[in-house]
Amino acid sequence: MEKKRIVVIGNGMVGHRFIEELCDKNVEGTFEITTFSEEPRLAYDRVQLSSFFNGNTAADLMLTSEEVYDEKGVHYFLNEKVTAIRAENRCVVTDKGREVFYDKLVIATGSYPFVPPIDGNDQPHCHVYRTIEDLEAIAASGKQSQSGVVIGGGLLGLEAANALKCMGVDTHVVEFAPRLMLFSWMRAAATC
Ligand SMILES: Cc1cc2nc3c(=O)[nH]c(=O)nc-3n(C[C@H](O)[C@H](O)[C@H](O)COP(=O)(O)OP(=O)(O)OC[C@H]3O[C@@H](n4cnc5c(N)ncnc54)[C@H](O)[C@@H]3O)c2cc1C
Repeated sequence: MEKKRIVVIGNGMVGHRFIEELCDKNVEGTFEITTFSEEPRLAYDRVQLSSFFNGNTAADLMLTSEEVYDEKGVHYFLNEKVTAIRAENRCVVTDKGREVFYDKLVIATGSYPFVPPIDGNDQPHCHVYRTIEDLEAIAASGKQSQSGVVIGGGLLGLEAANALKCMGVDTHVVEFAPRLMLFSWMRAAATC
């Protein structure tokens, strides 16, 4: 019997959880699973990302390892972004020119931080707060800085502000809403 080729774009918390579930159901080896991550490592606990500033390392945050994926026969490509989906011949294409064919395709690419189109947002000490690499860059900037500004006073903005404070940087938060955490508060109120 031919194996069903399943390609998962994105190896974040959701892509990885899906693969774990699929592996549990794959006792007869029915599926051939391939995943792509734009990031240089397999899935880690992004929700706990801020613990990086309390001494947790990238290794502490990992949800899996290359050894586990190898053992389960999951193919993975790190640092490789899927740039095209050719649905007509069921194939994905990556920024490295690789083509992988699929029977089923799962897109688990998460989201990206919105960076407001403000002059200077591309200067070296301007960062977003989403990946381990972002936090490493923030830590490196923090070492050379006395003062830091966080744009956005939502949950992640305040986590970022706390990180700056932990580094001993004089920290400012700029928020255009009349109060901090307004949207988180509105969302929580709407679900009550
Ligand atoms: C600091 C921080 C704290 C958070 N705290 C909470 C919390 O307390 N509670 C909560 O519910 N949520 C929280 N979140 C949000 C939570 O992390 C996300 O909801 C969750 O990570 C979404 O998982 P995902 O797998 O859908 O996306 P992601 O974790 O973003 O993973 C998607 C992956 O796909 C990769 N990718 C994207 N495009 C491509 C492509 N074309 N080719 C290859 N790879 C690609 C990305 O690089 C990424 O690695 C937090 C987020 C951050 C950053």
